[in-house]
Amino acid sequence: MAYSVKTIFGPTLQGEGSNAGRACVFLRLSGCNAWDGRPETRAASACPYCDTEFRGGERLALDAILVRLLRLIPEGADAAQFGCVLTGGEPLLQADQELLTTLGAAFAWVDVETNGTRPCPPRPANVRVSCSPKAITGQPVVAEPDWWKILIPDQEPFLERALASGAPVYLQPTCPDGGPEGATYQANVERCLELCYARGCRLSVQVHKYLGLE
Ligand code: SF4
Repeated sequence: MAYSVKTIFGPTLQGEGSNAGRACVFLRLSGCNAWDGRPETRAASACPYCDTEFRGGERLALDAILVRLLRLIPEGADAAQFGCVLTGGEPLLQADQELLTTLGAAFAWVDVETNGTRPCPPRPANVRVSCSPKAITGQPVVAEPDWWKILIPDQEPFLERALASGAPVYLQPTCPDGGPEGATYQANVERCLELCYARGCRLSVQVHKYLGLE
């Protein structure tokens, strides 16, 4: 089986969600069902704040992907603790049980970062689903994730559903100006704090952006 891969990179830190701050490598698959990635269609898309380049890339077989991922773990590192973030674009457009099983066997933990509009195939227990739900016309959120990551303010309408599920809910302020700075970002952080205090949510601030990591 081959997959369209945008980038494979690391070592770095997972910046978001339950594994924030942990050492990992990234597998970014190509393509997304929320936006076609062209600048001229961004404003009208479901995700005008998208900070990811997911167009293009190369076709790679699973064994080649695994070799490239494992090569990124630095010599002398505790490979048994390294994780892998499977992201996109929307990774569940392509990810199948074989990919998830292989990653789960090779890494201590795996985060699947999805917009929630595609069901996740069967997976090992250490492969967990992080859903950042997006309102895409005609494509409802069907995920039952291990945790939610709600972008504030853009995806706040999903908050009640996320809280009702009983899974942990992270709130993440969007960075409309690219980095974790600026007046709009500060306002988004303030809204997250209000909701954390009032609703028992957890803050997720994209650690990698504060550190200048990829
Ligand atoms: S679902 Fe994620 S990757 Fe796709 S357009 Fe939205 S923010 Fe970007």
